[in-house]
Amino acid sequence: MSNISSFDSKLESFKAIEIFQPLPDEKLELLISDSREIVLNAGETLFREGDPGDSMYVILSGEIAIEKENTMITRKGLGSYFGEMTLIEDKPRSATIKAITESRLLEIMKDQFLQHLASNPQTLMTVLRTVSERARENLTALDQGMKILKAEKKLNNNLQHLLDDTTNEIYIFDTESYHFISLNTRATKNLGYEKNELTQMTLFDVITNISKGNFEELIKPLLSDNVEEVAFNGYHRRKDRSNYPVEIRFKLQKDETPPVFIGMVQDISQLTELKQENKNLTFYDPLTGLPNKNLILEELNSELEQAKKVDKSVAVLLMDLDDFKIINDSMGHSAGDTLLQAAADRLKDWAPSNCRVARFGGDEFAVILSDINSESQAADTATGLLNLFKKPFLINEQEAYINLSIGISYYPLDGDDGRSLIKDADTAMYIAKAEGKNKYCHYSSDMEVQAKNKLILEGDLRKALEQNEFVLYYQPKLDLTNETIVGFESLMRWNHSSRGLVSPLDFIPLAEKTGLIIPMGEWALRTACAQMKAWLDMGFQIQNTAVNLSACQFSQPNLVEMIGKIIAETGINPENLELEITESVLLDNAESATAQLKQLNDLGIKLSIDDFGTGYSSLSYLNSFPLDNLKIDRAFVKDITCEKDAPLAKAIVSMAKALGLKTIAEGIETEEQKQVLRSIGADIMQGYLFSKPLPADEATKLLASSRLL
Ligand code: C2E
Ligand code: MG
Ligand code: MG
Repeated sequence: MSNISSFDSKLESFKAIEIFQPLPDEKLELLISDSREIVLNAGETLFREGDPGDSMYVILSGEIAIEKENTMITRKGLGSYFGEMTLIEDKPRSATIKAITESRLLEIMKDQFLQHLASNPQTLMTVLRTVSERARENLTALDQGMKILKAEKKLNNNLQHLLDDTTNEIYIFDTESYHFISLNTRATKNLGYEKNELTQMTLFDVITNISKGNFEELIKPLLSDNVEEVAFNGYHRRKDRSNYPVEIRFKLQKDETPPVFIGMVQDISQLTELKQENKNLTFYDPLTGLPNKNLILEELNSELEQAKKVDKSVAVLLMDLDDFKIINDSMGHSAGDTLLQAAADRLKDWAPSNCRVARFGGDEFAVILSDINSESQAADTATGLLNLFKKPFLINEQEAYINLSIGISYYPLDGDDGRSLIKDADTAMYIAKAEGKNKYCHYSSDMEVQAKNKLILEGDLRKALEQNEFVLYYQPKLDLTNETIVGFESLMRWNHSSRGLVSPLDFIPLAEKTGLIIPMGEWALRTACAQMKAWLDMGFQIQNTAVNLSACQFSQPNLVEMIGKIIAETGINPENLELEITESVLLDNAESATAQLKQLNDLGIKLSIDDFGTGYSSLSYLNSFPLDNLKIDRAFVKDITCEKDAPLAKAIVSMAKALGLKTIAEGIETEEQKQVLRSIGADIMQGYLFSKPLPADEATKLLASSRLL
């Protein structure tokens, strides 16, 4: 080890090589310290064709030529390696390796190499596979090289000049393997590859939208001498993975031995304005300029072809903006469009080189993640995307918060064609929405059934509001010191025509996903306030009725206004209304929610944090929001009688008191729980011990009887 930086560069070049990739860093470091460094001057030979070999070499710097029969076939630089065949069998070297410029190499002896692999069977498998593939690949490359040499010798200089002069790309390629044998400068310019890179590639590495099978079908008339030329349109893919449309003509040159194909290709992306616009409409989304579903599907299929060849994976991430409809409906369509453009720009700026972003229409976007090795890379990308949308968007000088739900499907696990991968990602996205949004889900086959059931329920839910199938139940809240009813919590029920009462746990997430929670939430507020007013008019001395609000209701910019109107219309005082929100409102939409909560608090409305203890926030965090009550979640109350958990509840109560918050204990089912809660100083109780949630008329009876008592 001469110095740290050269050691690091060795490590890096090892990591760039497929057979070393699965080895942990410690192993690579050992391998590096065991191996020998060799410096070759320009022109010096490392080994000759036919030499015996028991070692392999990794290039650390410089450039090396691979020669056969004294003619250079190709050149290789940093990170490349030679001699892999000698690792698995005692073969003589199949080419001569010579330095072009001064080059540093690491020599690894066969025994040494195998020793490092012996303890790791997984890696051994990768090595064997890679080595056998590489060996095959190299032999083809060498064979190809010979053909290039022969073909190039035949092409006289004048012809080459002529070829380079045209504005068409010209390719001469092998009729069997479809490897390029020769090509003109225009081809290298348009595609962005070096000539020697292209001569290692086949036609299908460049044409993106035509499979080998289809191509062979197309050229049949050429081979059977029926026509002189075949022509068709397609797409070429540049080295940077971008595509351009081309017009392609093929001829068969039988005079050559062996015969070759000549392809003349014209880049047609610069055709008339009109054609361009047409093409844009077919392949690009006019609003955001992103590729549309047509284009991305083609690209996905070609990524899949590529992935199959090199044994890599591809993931499809389908994303839908959460509650976009609310913004669109409340702020207007042009604000909605601005938001979509801003979201698209954010995605464009983010996209790493192995990601392609598209808009599928509406508020749906897709990311194709190619060239990956594991599912966890797709999950990391999804997490990155969720974080990307944490910052607000500025729409008409107003901050709008919008989250994503993401469905992921994965080649090879979930399917191997573009359409089915997109469909699977869509199903997974649907489940992510149903499970509460702002998250990602991986596709699994049982999701189909789940999604179907949810879809049926969703259809029914849309009709439920019109058909008056929702009812509010009311669960009393009692003062823990004197056990009088101080108010109620309203809880929604769905009286489904065939399923009977559906739990809010099943339909609220669905209502949130579809945006139906907005009209449903408004209905619940109006109904609960009207009921509160009725109780007050009957002379019952209760303080308030609570209504649960979903986090997504806070994306409604007119929420505060709407609540104020309902209070005025029903004729209650603002302090007769309590709103229950969960910690997620504060965490996900902190900035916009704070402003709205402050306005609600200014009106005099009571605010409670529901299900406290199940989220992530701390009491000190809650202190920055204008809150009145803290509802201790049922999960805490459940075990409160056991010695271990009581101190925790006690700490919550005393800290809440210190912050000036009242505590409401939810889910009290036993006398003992009540006693403990009373002893630790909780203020209000709610639970089956006193009463389950009741229909309005029964709640009224309960109030009447408790007054009598
Ligand atoms: P939540 O707001 O925490 O409501 C308390 C839940 O605990 C209610 O379930 C209630 O019936 C149940 N509960 C109360 N006391 C006891 C007890 O002693 N033991 C047990 N085991 N359970 C008890 P429910 O009615 O099924 O509601 C579930 C959740 O659905 C609510 O949790 C709330 O988050 C949501 N929800 C209900 N109505 C609405 C609504 O109108 N709007 C919104 N956005 N969400 C609602
Ligand atoms: Mg609640
Ligand atoms: Mg609760």
